[in-house]
Amino acid sequence: MIDTHCHLDGEEFKDDLDAVVARAKEAGVTAIGVPGIDLKSCDSVMALCQRYPDYCYPMLGLHPEEVKADWQEVLAQIKPHLLEGVAIGEVGLDFYWSREFEQEQLLAFEEQVKWSVELQLPLMIHCRKAQNEMVSILKRYKDDLPGGVFHCFTGNALEAQELLQFDRFVLGIGGVLTFKKSHLPEVLPAVVPLDRIVLETDAPYMAPVPMRGQRNEPAFVAYVLRRLAEAYGVSEEEVERVTDANVARVFGGK
Ligand SMILES: [Zn+2]
Repeated sequence: MIDTHCHLDGEEFKDDLDAVVARAKEAGVTAIGVPGIDLKSCDSVMALCQRYPDYCYPMLGLHPEEVKADWQEVLAQIKPHLLEGVAIGEVGLDFYWSREFEQEQLLAFEEQVKWSVELQLPLMIHCRKAQNEMVSILKRYKDDLPGGVFHCFTGNALEAQELLQFDRFVLGIGGVLTFKKSHLPEVLPAVVPLDRIVLETDAPYMAPVPMRGQRNEPAFVAYVLRRLAEAYGVSEEEVERVTDANVARVFGGK
């Protein structure tokens, strides 16, 4: 199984990184996608991925919460790094905490969507309280986008269907699926075919039940897989096979 979204370059892992990676391998995690969030993380993500070659895969981009007044300069500095990664990310819109840089976020996201088209690199998209705005930007490039992941999907059936209109995109499903009050175990099987889902942890955040509240780590993606198998009424092996194939398709086998 593959953890498509894990901030393994974070401070939270600096003391026991090798043990975290060893536990991931032992749990059956065969690859980990590591997203950047800003210019500095182009270095930390690349260094991490070079330490675990053919296991950790970099994605580079400017996270919406890191978009400030200087976004154009930052993007200009990030762009030369893009081809070192397997995707552009994580990018998107986040109006949950603050709308201070709303206009800048919209412009920075659209610029990175254009990069995805230009370089034919998939997008790793973060979206919070901004689905309408995100969809309206993506629609402008719909036919030319190579694909990507709507990371940390937690929405309802209508929101899921709206995202699935983007043919080559999949939903990233993580720990929220396992939370007691989550509606995802009903929503997903009702409207999302398994071939439109990839697994993720978003570690160190969003630890799944029964690890909720702890530091999350890639090995815990197994709990997400198990819950997904229950929800779809299929074997864990089937979820693993299909979601692995989805990753290969979206990321072009990289
Ligand atoms: Zn993330």
